[in-house]
Amino acid sequence: MTTSTTPRDIVVIGAGIVGMACASFIRRAGHRVTVLDRGAPGEGTSFGNAGCLNSSSVVPISMPGVLAQVPRWLLDPEGPLVLRWRYLPDLAPWLWRFVRAGTPEKVAAQARALRALLGSTLESYAPLIKAAGAEDLVHRAGHLTVYKSEAGFAKDARAMDLRRANGVVVDDLSVDELRQLEPGLSRDFVRGRMIAETGHVGDPYRLVCRLAEAFVRDGGEIRRDSVRGFEFADGAVTGVRGESGVHPAAQIVLAAGAWSKHLALELGDAVPLDTERGYHVVLRDPEIMPRRPISSADGKFFATPMDGGLRVAGTVEFAGLEAPPDWRRSRMLLRQAQDMFPALARDIGDERLSLWMGFRPSMPDSLPVIGKSRRHRNVVHAFGHGHVGLIGGAMTGRIVAALVDGAAPPIDIAPFRVERFG
Ligand SMILES: Cc1cc2nc3c(=O)[nH]c(=O)nc-3n(C[C@H](O)[C@H](O)[C@H](O)COP(=O)(O)OP(=O)(O)OC[C@H]3O[C@@H](n4cnc5c(N)ncnc54)[C@H](O)[C@@H]3O)c2cc1C
Repeated sequence: MTTSTTPRDIVVIGAGIVGMACASFIRRAGHRVTVLDRGAPGEGTSFGNAGCLNSSSVVPISMPGVLAQVPRWLLDPEGPLVLRWRYLPDLAPWLWRFVRAGTPEKVAAQARALRALLGSTLESYAPLIKAAGAEDLVHRAGHLTVYKSEAGFAKDARAMDLRRANGVVVDDLSVDELRQLEPGLSRDFVRGRMIAETGHVGDPYRLVCRLAEAFVRDGGEIRRDSVRGFEFADGAVTGVRGESGVHPAAQIVLAAGAWSKHLALELGDAVPLDTERGYHVVLRDPEIMPRRPISSADGKFFATPMDGGLRVAGTVEFAGLEAPPDWRRSRMLLRQAQDMFPALARDIGDERLSLWMGFRPSMPDSLPVIGKSRRHRNVVHAFGHGHVGLIGGAMTGRIVAALVDGAAPPIDIAPFRVERFG
């Protein structure tokens, strides 16, 4: 542990990957840190993601031409992206910002910002992984994207060029090279692209648990409480109000993922945070396991070899935080995996499957909110990581720890500031 300033009481709200990474780095700087979560660590969105540590994930979700695709999304219930009609009025302002975020200039700037945040993910996690003894959970086998047609391969060139423009090495693969890398892939896939610099985790939930255990061993505290609001005095926040009482704090870090919007508003920061719900299915003892995470460019899903089985994760559903899951989305992912890997059994009993739904905390410009609150200088925001919270968790933690100490953050955080929403 390196003590750089006088130890203070820091309260972190949220024990997902982002909150635990922030808490761990702040604790390592010598502060007294309490993490508050209404559940146990890692049981939110960080539980079930695809586990990809893709330092190359610089392509924002809103890209030029996105507006033309909206009607198709609204009409295709089996597509990679669905919207529940009833949620449209709530989503409309977010959707409008999302469409406006997709100009070529904005996309180029977002990609640069994402590369700075994500590019060193494996290095940024390294000290936490070592302290947590979690080396066995991290694998470096690269990431493969596969295509069913030359046309699909060509269509994805713009996104790949954006990666290359940001220093990512992307190898274009012929059908033979694809077979050599992943012999179990369906013959329907005729082209591929390999990015070697990336990694993945064997179980994202266990990673959060290991970080939490190391944090507690190191003197940090994790308390179960549901945060309702804040205590204020002389223009500063003095404590966090939970169901079980007030937790005094010299500084606060808001890392409550998709649930951060109302808490940020209580702190004076209106943010256009919504949720892109996503699903997974885990198939235990699969007949075949890929050697590395593979994403289907056509289906927009990821198949990741995990400790507990083959996890197929993805899809986007706009339906807010309250609507019940639509498990047909997970079943659809299973069917897509069976198409991708013909050796998988066709008839799989429920005892071999687990289904999950989670809430990506999504900003319309694909950039998280990281930085000090507009109104309260002793509040640091760390939420809104959308599709890249696992990848970006460690760098977010490093930035937040620097801000808590009044030091310069390791990267330029101007693109992530809450002030960008006016
Ligand atoms: C299908 C799918 C696949 C994905 N794949 C990837 C991937 O491969 N790589 C990647 O980087 N990202 C991926 N993501 C995104 C990633 O999972 C998220 O960005 C990330 O988990 C967000 O972490 P978080 O800590 O901000 O939120 P969470 O993990 O949701 O944690 C927030 C915590 O705050 C707590 N909380 C909320 N409100 C309160 C309150 N009022 N009081 C107390 N506690 C509260 C919750 O209980 C929760 O534990 C994927 C997401 C999905 C859905």
